[in-house]
Amino acid sequence: MAKADDSSLDPEELRAVQAAARRALDRASAWGIYPTPTAVILEAASLKVAPASAFDPRRITDYLLGKAESAAVALKSAIAKVFGIYDAGEQLIHIDDTVHKSKQNFLKLHEAGHHELPSHRSAFRLFHDCEKTLDPTISDLFEREANNFARFVLFQGDGYASMAADHKLELKTPMKLAGKFGASVYASCREFARTHHRACAVYVLEPVTYCEKTGARAKVRRIEASPDYLRQFRRPDETEITLDHSLGRVLPVGRKMTRPTTVSITDRNGQAHECVAEAFDTTFNVLLLIYPVKALTAVTVIIPSR
Ligand SMILES: [Zn+2]
Repeated sequence: MAKADDSSLDPEELRAVQAAARRALDRASAWGIYPTPTAVILEAASLKVAPASAFDPRRITDYLLGKAESAAVALKSAIAKVFGIYDAGEQLIHIDDTVHKSKQNFLKLHEAGHHELPSHRSAFRLFHDCEKTLDPTISDLFEREANNFARFVLFQGDGYASMAADHKLELKTPMKLAGKFGASVYASCREFARTHHRACAVYVLEPVTYCEKTGARAKVRRIEASPDYLRQFRRPDETEITLDHSLGRVLPVGRKMTRPTTVSITDRNGQAHECVAEAFDTTFNVLLLIYPVKALTAVTVIIPSR
């Protein structure tokens, strides 16, 4: 099953979150500095990060048990791995330092979001983020708000989109920009598709598996599409890509990547469009980018005279 929505907010909620994120970037004078200096953002917010040695699941459980709202929290920690904790009383963040650096970075900003959004702090003394809350099946408002705070600070509003616009519409671009923004390739690909000014979509797939009957297949983890793509095509809602799907031939089977390949996608009016799709297997996920060719040729083809 595809991952639950972890980020949608209504316009008013989003505006409030973005205002708080903007203030955090202002306070740290971090605009235009890439990757966003997370340490400076936290310091300017008077937030401390507990030493990595403190992140021991047993000690965390003890720590949580010492807090008032321990019963529910301790239960939660029993069923899912904890990645991050924000303690409002101590203005302290605990981060699991065994997860990838780019994820730690996002986690710190997510916890900073709980700190910077006044309604969060007044509701809870302790935020406890694990697989369930960060990539939830039941995603609650505070978690979606904290994710949007982190996303805004990490990608500096439309900073990512304007940089992406100066690069080619190809899978290499979000992979390259991930490093520039200190984001995971996964987060960068999502941001790329969500904010691109041209029609495109990114499918994040689980690793390819094989089935006697149907051959190679990959379950959909998440699909993000640009506003133009959504206007032109339907919102993609596949739950898996099999070989008989139009994108089936793009699955990188027995190879690391699939070079740009022509595929056909039907638009809202039932008209088929020539599109280009390419894929890359990160070993954790398969990333697949698709975009209609027409938009590409209309905007960018310049034939040099020789
Ligand atoms: Zn959280």
